[in-house]
Amino acid sequence: TKNVYVFKKGSSGGRKEMKQLLGGKGANLCEMAHLGLNVPPAFTITTVVCQEFYKAGGKLPNGVWDDILSAVKEVEQAYGAKFADPADPLLFSVRSGAAVSMPGMMDTVLNLGLNDTVVKGLAKKRGERFAYDCYRRLLDMFGDVVLGIEHSLFEAEMHAVKEAKGIKLDVNLTGDDLKEVVRRFKGVYEKVGKSLPEDPFEQMKLAINAVFGSWNTPRAVKYREINRIRGLLGTAVNVQSMVYGNLNDNSGTGVCFTRNPATGEKKLYGEYLPNAQGEDVVAGIRTPLDVTHMAENFPEAYKDLVANTNMLEKHMRDMQDCEFTVQDGVLFMLQTRNGKRTGPAALQVAVAMEREGMVARDEAVLMVEPRHLDQLLHPMFEGTNKPEYKKAFLGKGLPASPGAAVGKVVFTADEAEKWHKEGEKVILVRLETSPEDVGGMHAAEGILTARGGMTSHAAVVARGWGKPCVCGLDKLEVDYPSKTATLGGTTLKEGDWLSLNGSSGEVLQGKQPVKPPEMSGELAVFMEWVDSFRKIGVFTNADTPADAIVARKNGAQGIGLVRTEHMFFATAERIAAVRRMIAAEELLEGEGSSAADALAALKEFQREDFEGIFTAMDGLPVTIRLLDPPLHEFLPHEGSPELDALCETLATEMQGRSGQHMSAVRILKSKIHGLQEANPMLGLRGCRLGIRHPDITEMQAKAILEAAVNVSAKGIKAHPHIMVPLVGFEEELANQVGVIRKAAEDTFKAKGATVEYKVGTMIEVPRGALRAGDLAKHADFFSFGTNDLTQMTCGFSRDDAEAKFLPLYVSQGIIQADPFEELDVTGVGELIKIAVQRGRETRPNLHLGICGEHGGDPKSIEFVSTLVDYVSCSPLRVPIARLAAAQAAI
Ligand code: PEP
Ligand code: MG
Repeated sequence: TKNVYVFKKGSSGGRKEMKQLLGGKGANLCEMAHLGLNVPPAFTITTVVCQEFYKAGGKLPNGVWDDILSAVKEVEQAYGAKFADPADPLLFSVRSGAAVSMPGMMDTVLNLGLNDTVVKGLAKKRGERFAYDCYRRLLDMFGDVVLGIEHSLFEAEMHAVKEAKGIKLDVNLTGDDLKEVVRRFKGVYEKVGKSLPEDPFEQMKLAINAVFGSWNTPRAVKYREINRIRGLLGTAVNVQSMVYGNLNDNSGTGVCFTRNPATGEKKLYGEYLPNAQGEDVVAGIRTPLDVTHMAENFPEAYKDLVANTNMLEKHMRDMQDCEFTVQDGVLFMLQTRNGKRTGPAALQVAVAMEREGMVARDEAVLMVEPRHLDQLLHPMFEGTNKPEYKKAFLGKGLPASPGAAVGKVVFTADEAEKWHKEGEKVILVRLETSPEDVGGMHAAEGILTARGGMTSHAAVVARGWGKPCVCGLDKLEVDYPSKTATLGGTTLKEGDWLSLNGSSGEVLQGKQPVKPPEMSGELAVFMEWVDSFRKIGVFTNADTPADAIVARKNGAQGIGLVRTEHMFFATAERIAAVRRMIAAEELLEGEGSSAADALAALKEFQREDFEGIFTAMDGLPVTIRLLDPPLHEFLPHEGSPELDALCETLATEMQGRSGQHMSAVRILKSKIHGLQEANPMLGLRGCRLGIRHPDITEMQAKAILEAAVNVSAKGIKAHPHIMVPLVGFEEELANQVGVIRKAAEDTFKAKGATVEYKVGTMIEVPRGALRAGDLAKHADFFSFGTNDLTQMTCGFSRDDAEAKFLPLYVSQGIIQADPFEELDVTGVGELIKIAVQRGRETRPNLHLGICGEHGGDPKSIEFVSTLVDYVSCSPLRVPIARLAAAQAAI
């Protein structure tokens, strides 16, 4: 492959399929050139060069500069002007562009090629105002991006000049004013002891280096981390000949989407600024005009824009997000890419494009990302026409990213991150956001800005994440030093509650109540399409009838995991019963009657719960896991007053059986102390508990089967699947299966009725995975408990690793992702493969599922989709898992 690809209208070496090599921007520019659209002649330096740039310690690899020089020559010819030629200067922009778009994360320099001599030539040819406007922009961007001079230093000078002249808008600055701005900008350079290289080629070289360098700035690294963007070579660099939206009033620049990125409505949607350069729109400094107004000011260019964008959408078979410039009435296309969109828009666009015949049904299913569905399932405000809601109204900005956000006001990204870490929900309130703010934006529930349009940085980034965002609320005044803002006559202080309605743009005081979303008609249609491609089942992890009902509404085809212990925490009465059981079982060995009483009480609770769950899941399998966690999790912390009180109560209950009250308290305390374990996750839990206390297993099995018999009598179809946790040895499973089968016999005899039931095991201990062939002798089914399997395979504590070192591991590239979120395919995944193969060798019809957190993670679902029969996840993630499973099958 070449290092550099040149393209111009009607001719291009690259194509849209070459994104890995040319980056998204470069590949699509090549495609537009190939299609004959009016793109300024340009060249793209590949991502491979970026990779080599880093290998070479941050310099251009040998030979590349020569390739660049000959590309410049080609562009000069196509453009009809020369770089660095004072008589008729060609200027360049240098822009980043990776294979995956990272809006605003990396750097751009415009108007390269100007110096004190060239600017005079440009002024002569195109006018003084224009030439010095370009020059001041170059000084600002080059200073900021290449030399690391604070952008705010330039901003302050610009502000001072405007102030002195009593001017509000940049466009009203005259040529002389801009000369003054340039003089002051040079002063800024001097103050920090730096200078803009006089030689335009030197400028270009430094700018290219800086853009390659921007691939690894902290903010870019963070953005990739948050968005799980991995496996890229680096960024490409696009060196484009400049066309000028700031040439005169017959020029302008803008951004548009072929459909509305917030709602999906089919209508050209966007904004432009007359007499401006690209960064003015994206940076959100001036609030732009609606793109449809162009029809009046630039009728020819607008007609071309409509035609080009229509054709691009058809050609790319997806909604496009385009950047363009109008120079003296002539339209130039600067970029096109698949537009980032909200969940509602993604759904709308996919369904509409299928109906328009633009994409096939399977393609439509691939167009909605799992996180889009996640957004569709996000809460909305309740009662937006109620007086309480109306009374809380403070102001209305642009509805930049839909949804309801409620949180406490903070004014900096750092504070947002800090508060979020402390468990607070925050709303980030800014005049405008910049790419440095991404960490805080991500930590916030929602984002509110005073400046910027629907395509401003805040809006684009927020939509990408599905975070509610209201922007361009110009009545909002923010005073950073005092950490206050005023809006609609109300002063907001840091920490005040605020509610944002990203769907309407409304900002509301206080904590407005939210409600779960409604499944719309389109969503139902789309989910039907999804299910028509899906090959594996989607079950749910649910512990209560209420959860089961939600999951079933979301399309769950069964319950893959009922964690019985969660039911124990449901009420104070239950937890008291559990504690009595522990006291009897663990603390009063030999006190049989007491243990039996406690167990009988618990069995009642459990049976009722199971009846509820079987009823909710009528006709579908319900997988119930026997007691799993260490017993001390049910007890108050050591040394706590609650523990003292508990010992008192238990001792009183036991009086008469165990002698003196005082000594009973003392004995209980010391026994409870004995329950503590150094490694509770590896201790007395799972089937080990059931083996030590078979009567607990028996009680649970009876509760399950009695419940099944009882509801069956009412005509409900119960399908109990009883599951033994944490099995590593065949004998463990054999032991517990024995207890369960005996309990079943007893129950059926006592009830005079039977139900069909299955017994299976979790695979969550590496030894269990390796010995799956033996385990399958005793199991009708396996369910992979990938939380524990990850913990024990990697040797990473579930409780501590995430706080202590996993983020470090990810940021250093030691591992690619948190293995508790995204299945570690090469390690844990290997064990799953082994277990599937060995299990099925023993029992070909073994039913297989996964019920760890990974069952709801799209990437993990993709991996297991060829191995298991179903995934099981939390009720709200069920639709997401359905989509991920369908996409894995397409
Ligand atoms: C697991 O370990 O993956 C599992 C589902 O069980 P738990 O999370 O309850 O340990
Ligand atoms: Mg587990």
